[in-house]
Amino acid sequence: MIKYCVRCLLPSTKPDLSFDLDGVCAACIAFSTRSEIDWEGREKSFVDLVRKINANRENSWDCIVPVSGGKDSTAQVLKMLELGFNPLCVTATTCDPTPIGRQNLENIKSLGVDLVEFSPNQVIRKKLNRIGLEQVGDISWPEHVGIFTIPVRAAVQFKVPLIIWGENSQNEYGGPASDAENNSLTRKWLEEFGGLLGLRVSDLNEVFDIPSSKLNSYLYPTDAEMAEVGVTGLFLGHYFPWDGLANYLLAQANGFKSYGMSIEGSMVDYENIDNFQTGIHDYFKYLKFGFGRTTDIVSTHIRRGRISRKQGLEIVKCSDGRFPHTYLGKELREIIEPLNLTVTEFNQICDRFTNKSLFKKDVDGGIIRKSDGTPIKINYDNLD
Ligand SMILES: [Zn+2]
Repeated sequence: MIKYCVRCLLPSTKPDLSFDLDGVCAACIAFSTRSEIDWEGREKSFVDLVRKINANRENSWDCIVPVSGGKDSTAQVLKMLELGFNPLCVTATTCDPTPIGRQNLENIKSLGVDLVEFSPNQVIRKKLNRIGLEQVGDISWPEHVGIFTIPVRAAVQFKVPLIIWGENSQNEYGGPASDAENNSLTRKWLEEFGGLLGLRVSDLNEVFDIPSSKLNSYLYPTDAEMAEVGVTGLFLGHYFPWDGLANYLLAQANGFKSYGMSIEGSMVDYENIDNFQTGIHDYFKYLKFGFGRTTDIVSTHIRRGRISRKQGLEIVKCSDGRFPHTYLGKELREIIEPLNLTVTEFNQICDRFTNKSLFKKDVDGGIIRKSDGTPIKINYDNLD
């Protein structure tokens, strides 16, 4: 049986998620302490910290803000501008950019900031997508590495020591308590939670014969390079009460466009709209751990009292973990074609990464599926 948090719907199969003796998950516990936080004090300490880091620096940017063009990064840029800072925005191009994602990136530029877009070698990127999918069941492996390494490389390159990250995903979505309180992002954090999944960049060179010179964008700068600039990172979510929906509303008021209809495997139309491969990424999470993007989003809304746990459960049953026949309207076949993969090969990879103990099986041991191909879980809630 899969065990679920008694307050939200996160399952115990979620990596690094701990539960207390009452069955409440670490994400819910971290959220419940928010009301005791002196947010005004935190904002003041944030502003003081940014000023202190920039005290002896002139004619430069105050910080680097990594941006995807999504609702959260749009809100991050707006926050830094509101506080009177001059950010340099850095974008790592997604694996399979969507037109609406591009439009939202253009919108960030229109807010009044400098923006650098770094686009890693696309031939290598497609190889890495396939290696990520086949080796660790994550098509988005290179993108997830790049969104952490590229802004850090930019910090070294442009000699801007401070990087402002968004939320600490370990805080909102649950993780070890010691790390939820961490307000900075370090190489150690990247290696532990940054999505490497045991596939190291050095393996790509040694095992898959990709020259290391082609892998620069996936490598962290050296400690010496970091020390010379004094690179440091802060999570904005530690200093301001992070809320995805509030970020969306703020971003929308400032030109951000949503998809306009609900996204496959999700329950909202305003997030993960910048990469056509995201549907595959989320589906594999469902196959490996028995929960998808809908569970994550629903749980943030349950925690904030916007919907009941019961309502959330109905939404999860309906939308979570759907087989990605399409994503943002693009056909699966078209999405995986550049990776030289057929749908049959894709399904074989799916089977390899399916944790069969999480799904219902027929007498022959085959996975039972909904009519759209989505595997049915053994249980969607705790059983009495
Ligand atoms: Zn919970």
